[in-house]
Amino acid sequence: MSDHVLVINAGSSSLKYSLIDGASGAAVASGLVERIGEPEGRHVHRGPSGETSATLEIASHEEAMRAVIDAFAEYGPSFDDVEIVAIGHRVVHGGSRFADPVLIDDELVAAVTELVPLAPLHNPANLEGIRVARRLFPDHPQVAVFDTAFHQTLPPEAYTYAVPLEWRDDHGIRRYGFHGTSYAFVSGEAARLLGRDLTDLNLIVLHLGNGCSAAALRGGVSVDTSMGMTPLEGLVMGTRSGDVDPAILAYLTHELGWTPDKIDHALNHESGLKGIAGDNDFRELTERRSTGDPHAQLAFDIYCRRIRKYIGAYYAVLGTVDAIVFTAGVGQHSAEVRAASLAGLDRLGIQLDPERNNSATPGLVSTDGSAVAVLVVPTNEEWQIAREALTLLR
Ligand code: ADP
Repeated sequence: MSDHVLVINAGSSSLKYSLIDGASGAAVASGLVERIGEPEGRHVHRGPSGETSATLEIASHEEAMRAVIDAFAEYGPSFDDVEIVAIGHRVVHGGSRFADPVLIDDELVAAVTELVPLAPLHNPANLEGIRVARRLFPDHPQVAVFDTAFHQTLPPEAYTYAVPLEWRDDHGIRRYGFHGTSYAFVSGEAARLLGRDLTDLNLIVLHLGNGCSAAALRGGVSVDTSMGMTPLEGLVMGTRSGDVDPAILAYLTHELGWTPDKIDHALNHESGLKGIAGDNDFRELTERRSTGDPHAQLAFDIYCRRIRKYIGAYYAVLGTVDAIVFTAGVGQHSAEVRAASLAGLDRLGIQLDPERNNSATPGLVSTDGSAVAVLVVPTNEEWQIAREALTLLR
């Protein structure tokens, strides 16, 4: 029997989980508990006998985790049949301290707690998931895998903002980058598809999901990335603005009397595609655009133009590029985004093959003659977390 890892991604009002076969990457079960703390919570569990769904009040993350354990017992697979060798936790912010996965103990919990000011939305929820899992699975080794860890290789000129240096040294204000588990997984897959050693490849990877970011990887190592101190900077996202002029914050404060919390909320939850077109779901947006909706068109144009600017920037950072890799919901499924972002870049050696690009199959979507390969690679962050946890334990 191969080793399995229970991968947990705890959000402020949700708990996502996957039981991953570490050898094949298959999710033998997965599920989501959402609206924790609200009167009508929901639990969806997918196991060997299909999907079950229940609506019930779930007061806390501890209750949510108990519901997950019950669902495994009732709908399978039973923990007697599948040996869980570790629990892997996604932790959003590891600050400057964590460049690798870490075995969770009291000291690690204290260190992640210290990082809460850098990720006030994410780290407290991740910590709650860790606390509950340690209580309910006291005999299982638990591993924290950080979204930021992959980018600890950024050189100082990439991670330092051009602000007074004390901001960085005394307050940790610097670029950290996120989506690290996705970049680690996708870059490995890209090398495999190209039949090359990752250490010989320069890649630009675009992770386009609800959150979106770009990364420049030299020899598989992150040398630049678009998200910054928080996951707000960079590309246009579902509800996040990405790059804006920081002076807008002072303007809104002075002119409209907005509080920092209100501005932060607007930039994180009411901006991006939603702010421009009223819709953060890319499928809806694509549908509306196809009927000639001007707001959907504008949102699409702004979104793709930003991607294009980052591709240009990272091309210049890397000097030579072997492949551009698209991943996550939009990156994998939207041929239109790939086409619009890369149109007319033949002089940079980038030539999309329309037929390959429009086919729904992942893999190579550039022409055989394109000097820069363009790849569509589905990400699998859960498998990456499971692999990293297993590697650490071995
Ligand atoms: P998350 O960042 O939450 O993991 P995903 O990677 O699943 O998100 O990406 C979600 C986004 O992908 C949504 O905006 C969704 O509409 C979009 N998406 C999913 N499938 C398609 C599709 N077939 N065409 C266009 N967009 C899609």
